[in-house]
Amino acid sequence: MTQHPPDHTLGVDIGGTRMRAAVVAADGAILDRSASATPAGDPAALLDRLEALIGRHPDMPVGVGIAGLVDPDGTVRYGPNIGIRDLPLATRLSAATGGPVTVANDASVAALAEQRVGAAVGADDVVLLTLGTGVGGGVVAGGSLLLGAGGFAGEIGHVIVHEGGRPCPCGNRGCIEAYASGTAIGLLARERLVDPDVPTTLREVDDPTGADVTAAAAAGDRFAADVIEEVGGWLGVAIASVVNVLDPQVVLLGGGAAASVAPTALPAARRALAARLVGSAWRTPPPLELAALGDDAGVVGAALLAGDRARRVADPAAAAGGRAETDLPRSDRPRSDRSRSDRPGADEDTR
Ligand SMILES: [Zn+2]
Repeated sequence: MTQHPPDHTLGVDIGGTRMRAAVVAADGAILDRSASATPAGDPAALLDRLEALIGRHPDMPVGVGIAGLVDPDGTVRYGPNIGIRDLPLATRLSAATGGPVTVANDASVAALAEQRVGAAVGADDVVLLTLGTGVGGGVVAGGSLLLGAGGFAGEIGHVIVHEGGRPCPCGNRGCIEAYASGTAIGLLARERLVDPDVPTTLREVDDPTGADVTAAAAAGDRFAADVIEEVGGWLGVAIASVVNVLDPQVVLLGGGAAASVAPTALPAARRALAARLVGSAWRTPPPLELAALGDDAGVVGAALLAGDRARRVADPAAAAGGRAETDLPRSDRPRSDRSRSDRPGADEDTR
């Protein structure tokens, strides 16, 4: 076991398929990392794995970011991709390891990481959308994570862009997640391929996924690029609503699918945002940029949050005077999974 300085913390990021962990310095630098498959659908195995991981760093504050709805006590109310409900994760891990454990939604902690040490350094008001299997979101307002009354703030993936539109895994219809997730990109392309006259290399792929579409777009396939552009337009519609409410200094696109769609999706999203911003003649839309930390955002953000909490506990007065993070984390957004849709929702102007 390596000895680390007292300001080092352990960050854990639990996604639907991968679990990552890292020892992180106070400046966000990653010193040690590991990754493994998430034991989805098996809460007991998940707890065992986490206890073993935390046990290797016995004196370190621990932060956990997890894909799901997390309440202020660190209980994961609903983590559909990981297959857990009402799991008091912070309490269980603290009891088992004897140290402080802070749990929050994964996209919220990613937003904190980008604001502290990533693409939004210097901005106090930041919105992050994460594009992966689903669409997540996190908000930093006035330098602190915005978690809401119950810890559930920041569910940008479920901003409705088309009332009555495509079904979303959350049970509603028309959420941005149903139009812009990796899952939705594949679905949209498959729907468009029904037209036999459209030339595209995607005809050579059985049931193309979102990753197939972005790869084809990057290789110059016009059809695939048009799909991504449409998705960018939908993103801009959702982002405009968020910006109209929160007025952030910067909006970031992160998550596993962000970098591959960004070249085509971001320009389309910027146009859609500018067209829908209230008072657009008298203001400038906030920059909409690619996030900087990639897959590390979750572990770094979770670790930074744990550090905030440790400082607050050690010195409440200084923490209140400085800008320590909100407390126990919580917030979230369910990323989703497979979305089935009925028909193309392309009847709305999204650009
Ligand atoms: Zn939804």
